Amino acid sequence: MAEIRIENLRKQFADFTAVQDSSFTVGDGEFLALLGPSGCGKTTTLRMIAGLELPTSGKIYLDGEDVTFNRASARDIAFVFQLFALYPHMNVRKNIGFPLLSQGLPKAEIKARVEETAKLLQISHILEKSVSGLAGGDRQRVALGRAIVRRPKCFLMDEPLGTLDAEFREVMVHELRELHNRIHATTVYVTHDQHEAMAMADKIAVMNHGIIEQFGTPQEIYNLPASMYVADFIGSPPMNFLKFTAGVQKGSRSVSVEGIDIALPEVHQDLAVGELALGVRPEHIRFNDSSALRGSVYGAEYLGTNQIVAVETGKGLLKARVPADHTFRIGETVGLELDSAKLSLFDCASGRAVKSSLYTEARHG
Ligand code: ATP
Repeated sequence: MAEIRIENLRKQFADFTAVQDSSFTVGDGEFLALLGPSGCGKTTTLRMIAGLELPTSGKIYLDGEDVTFNRASARDIAFVFQLFALYPHMNVRKNIGFPLLSQGLPKAEIKARVEETAKLLQISHILEKSVSGLAGGDRQRVALGRAIVRRPKCFLMDEPLGTLDAEFREVMVHELRELHNRIHATTVYVTHDQHEAMAMADKIAVMNHGIIEQFGTPQEIYNLPASMYVADFIGSPPMNFLKFTAGVQKGSRSVSVEGIDIALPEVHQDLAVGELALGVRPEHIRFNDSSALRGSVYGAEYLGTNQIVAVETGKGLLKARVPADHTFRIGETVGLELDSAKLSLFDCASGRAVKSSLYTEARHG
């Protein structure tokens, strides 16, 4: 297997920049998800790694070797566009073995590798069946088998579960991660679905307009968002923002939101007076009658294990995740307590997170 390293990778289509100076490393055996909305440059990045698109500038290294200008066929990478693409006139064995046949491998080796792959994917019992009669799940496993059997240095997958219904998608998310745990193949996986990325990936690159907004573990991305964009894109419901105008001094442990003092992790930089936003996840808000931060209940979404309650505070709508048995009336005035240890602070002008002990302590210990 292999390490993928990209340096200042850029792709320009005429005067439109689809990918802007991206740099990251996918360690040997790591699973990276490229995550972002439609049009943010995920597929273009993947296609450049695959060798299907030439970068405008920048470098791509595979196991330390500069492959930027190598043809796709010379990169030893398996590209899985859509797991359903199979040869309908062949049976499962022939579908899986086809890439090895094209490479001219001896029959005995093809047989051994197809059977080893089928065992790994738990589809040995359907090897002689025609693919046209297979159920969706088995078709996907066969298509995956065709990529795995080549033993490529890495796998690139572009929304492979995109066409599946929700229930089956969940099963495949679990299976793909299980498979990754067994074969430890370096993988880059493109998705617009945060749940897929969070559930499968070791690292996530959150993209926005061709730029990587944040690169980190799912935990870092969720707990320590580097920007308001990431905080808003990840989480369901996303992070709440409480906007206010103030200046903050390095060392502060609280901010004044229109007269209400709110404690937060120690701020590590000076900020001139400007628009700021406190960021708080719904699960870090609880109802507390004695809290100075007050609002009226606007609506609620019952989720069984808990409920999402929207409260209009006058400083913005906050969504709180509270126990399912908590009772209240629409329009009722409630007090809200924010978990001060978990608050993020953002500079609205740049959209970036303000340096605070929340970020430094999490990174260093
Ligand atoms: P999606 O999930 O919709 O494919 P994406 O994040 O993968 O989104 P890309 O396919 O990488 O996005 O496209 C990024 C941008 O580059 C889009 O605005 C797209 O229209 C543009 N683009 C992609 N390929 C070309 C091309 N060959 N010529 C011109 N523009 C292109």
